[in-house]
Amino acid sequence: MTFATLGLIEPLLRALEALGYQTPTPVQAQAIPAVLAGRDLMAAAQTGTGKTAGFAVPLLQRLTMEGPKVTANSVRALILCPTRELAEQVHASVAQYAEHLPLTTYAVYGGVSINPQMMKLCKGVDVLVATPGRLIDLFRQNALKLNQLQTLVLDEADRMLDLGFSEELANIYRMLPKKRQTLLFSATFSDDIRLLAGQMLIDPLSIEVSPRNVAANTVKQWVVPVDKKRKAELFVHLMRKGKWKQVLVFAKTRNGVDALVDKLQGLGINADGIHGDKPQATRQRALDRFKASEVQILVATDVAARGLDIEDLPMVVNFDLPIVAEDYIHRIGRTGRAGNTGEAISLVCADEVNMLSAIEMLTRQTLTRRMEQDFEPEHRVPDTDASGQVVKKPKKPKKPKTSGGGGKRNLGKWVESGEVAAEPSIKPVRKVPVFNTGPRKKK
Ligand code: AMP
Repeated sequence: MTFATLGLIEPLLRALEALGYQTPTPVQAQAIPAVLAGRDLMAAAQTGTGKTAGFAVPLLQRLTMEGPKVTANSVRALILCPTRELAEQVHASVAQYAEHLPLTTYAVYGGVSINPQMMKLCKGVDVLVATPGRLIDLFRQNALKLNQLQTLVLDEADRMLDLGFSEELANIYRMLPKKRQTLLFSATFSDDIRLLAGQMLIDPLSIEVSPRNVAANTVKQWVVPVDKKRKAELFVHLMRKGKWKQVLVFAKTRNGVDALVDKLQGLGINADGIHGDKPQATRQRALDRFKASEVQILVATDVAARGLDIEDLPMVVNFDLPIVAEDYIHRIGRTGRAGNTGEAISLVCADEVNMLSAIEMLTRQTLTRRMEQDFEPEHRVPDTDASGQVVKKPKKPKKPKTSGGGGKRNLGKWVESGEVAAEPSIKPVRKVPVFNTGPRKKK
């Protein structure tokens, strides 16, 4: 199969050829004809599968072939993304695909001045990529009208819910024309996403190009058990031992990112960090420098690193495990992209055992553990497996009670003795927007 056989027009074929895309990826092969035919889409596609071109290319073709010219302050296609970096990245791809088309494209997001964005929107834009909050701001300030909207894309929809954008999505939903095409892309498909899809889409074509919630199989994954306080030391040790060239490191908190970057820089290691507290320009600069291999180690929180496409990234390290198990899939999806192989190493301490168990259950695999000599943890990480079981250590014989107040231990949390809850209790907290679900006409 070629892109030409999917019915794409010559200017798009030329753009794809210039990018070196020879054959459509599975998600593209399914999505392109469906979007061209005007269908709604619900696509579960792993990150790195080529999903951006899967929605953007046919969308650009429809805009070129159909519909009126864009009018002042209007947009004809809207792509919603969870983070600023992802909005920039998706926009960069859209602009490349649209290079030979008479269409305008633009990206808007928070953290930067709104005025230039308002100015840019004055003449109208064919394809707007936006984060939900800034889109609403622009709409409320009358800088944006959605009555010309033909196609709405929800990219990384699960992440938008995880990041708490459910209210924004519900507000945007009320701003949309009823007659439109809607394409929903999500790396993972939870019940909340299915509910959202039920409200937003009409008779959608379902595409699932990889088994549900299974991590990229081009990525070699393993776990190194370690005590929490020795993680930074272990990281430096592994980095030097493995002669790692370029690594994306995920830490749980903004402070965690800063502390690790300080430590690495203090050792003369070329490291930088990105997280939500840093100004957008600083984040983008760190990312650009990392992409250009001018920075060796980039430490990031999940919010900052979501969906980033970094060519040939060989290694991802989970300095901390993610609180939401599904984020593990997104994180390791930063490597092993577009047919390359990659490695993902997680440094796991005892109090992360429930998170490890939740990840193994979600990805349906028991992650291999490799003990690193001289870093064996004092606080053992209990055994886990893909069934979600955390294997309890045999209990120590009870000491005779000397005073009252002992009572039962709380088994919901990891406690030092090695007793842990049998069930992982990691559940993403999500609110699903409540929409007015009145009938919507199909475009
Ligand atoms: P995405 O999943 O959209 O983030 O795409 C992942 C990477 O695959 C990006 O670097 C794309 O440029 C690249 N890509 C997308 N489609 C193709 C294709 N058909 N052939 C080769 N590379 C592609």
